[in-house]
Amino acid sequence: MSEVKIMLPEKELPEAWYNIQADMEVLPPPPLHPGTKEPIGPEMLAPIFPMELIKQEVSRERWIPIPDEVRDILRLWRPSPLCRARRLEKALDTPARIYYKYEGASPAGSHKPNTAVAQAYYNKEEGTRRITTETGAGQWGSALAMACNFFGIECKVYMVKVSYHQKPYRRTLMHLWGASVVASPSEDTAAGRGILAADPDSPGSLGVAISEAVEDAVGREDSKYSLGSVLNHVLLHQTVVGLEAKKQLEIAGDYPNVVIGCVGGGSNFAGLAFPFLKDKMTDGKAMRVIAVEPTACPTLTRGLYRYDFGDVAQMTPLLMMFTLGHDFMPSAIHAGGLRYHGMAPLISSLCDQKQIEARAYTQNPVFAAAALFARTEGIVPAPETSHAIKAVIDEAERCKREGKSETILFNFSGHGHFDLSAYDGYLAGKLEDYEYPEERVRESLARLEGL
Ligand SMILES: *Cc1c(COP(=O)(O)O)cnc(C)c1O
Repeated sequence: MSEVKIMLPEKELPEAWYNIQADMEVLPPPPLHPGTKEPIGPEMLAPIFPMELIKQEVSRERWIPIPDEVRDILRLWRPSPLCRARRLEKALDTPARIYYKYEGASPAGSHKPNTAVAQAYYNKEEGTRRITTETGAGQWGSALAMACNFFGIECKVYMVKVSYHQKPYRRTLMHLWGASVVASPSEDTAAGRGILAADPDSPGSLGVAISEAVEDAVGREDSKYSLGSVLNHVLLHQTVVGLEAKKQLEIAGDYPNVVIGCVGGGSNFAGLAFPFLKDKMTDGKAMRVIAVEPTACPTLTRGLYRYDFGDVAQMTPLLMMFTLGHDFMPSAIHAGGLRYHGMAPLISSLCDQKQIEARAYTQNPVFAAAALFARTEGIVPAPETSHAIKAVIDEAERCKREGKSETILFNFSGHGHFDLSAYDGYLAGKLEDYEYPEERVRESLARLEGL
């Protein structure tokens, strides 16, 4: 019987990130200036990002070296384990082989530190003393707080107000790692004050919190802004996940027929999938790659592929992406990390080119999948990750029906230890299966037509 856990020695930590822009036949169209609607140059992004990250954003080099200082910190938890989910396979009585890359082993409990550390490093190198950001449920805020703490950079987090009150423990983590956290919309920015004036009880959204964090960074000489997903350089930093997984599968003598990840802004999915998509695009390897999202925020499955803002206040550049409209207000589903209105331009383009597939699920089947995983493999998955697990189970059941022993690989993006109240709700039968109403999608998109 082969191994359950395939570990790589520390020296196998990747030395370079894989840049998919080197191998894509069609690249996403460039970002546009929010005012002039002309393609933007690097100088426009310079007030909010360090130059090295801006260069990575537009680079077409296939391999970008990972600085030693970044590798030294990644080594605290990387290479992460690749696990064979034998007990889940058995419970499903499937001929499929199921592997997961376990990103829950990072100090913050998710894949997000992989980019947080790199971003804090480049900021430090270029003299940034303070970084602002937004966070939804708190996973990104806590990852960046930890990274800033390692490099002695001040960190200010605008946390979506509902989560600020519902997820106090992630807030504690951020405080412990030295960040300051404010509920968004806040009184600290013009964008926040504007929203509060119109609706003092606004629960906030990622789009609002981004507006606040960007405004804050632009307004201060010592500050830059950092984003935890969506942008090309963020997806790039996550490719350590797929690069390690490839080596680990090689040790196991296996290769995936299906690669699966959940998608919020798209970074964990990209991190696992891009190094495999390279084989599909350059060596003609046959493989299905599936992005999984909630029906409550169905960006890839029901959004439009077009230019849109990244935030509510229309301060960010316009990105060509699948979008539900920048004024999208998500319902309070528990997968807080999957509630962004847009999708990474690289993933949007790959989806438009039919290189990847997308599907959406409602909450209860997703939590049922998570419960099965916890009962067979032991680990409690984050609600975001559980979307991927639901798709994995569906694919494993298809393999059973079709009598196929396919290899299924997915990204276990994070553990659910801070999401136990969501599990309480599930166990008590109190979760609602919510689909974002078709007419709200149409209204939001109709407003976009006017841009
Ligand atoms: C933030 C988060 C996600 C979604 O973000 P992506 O950029 O799409 O990866 C998924 N899973 C976990 C555990 C997260 O914290």
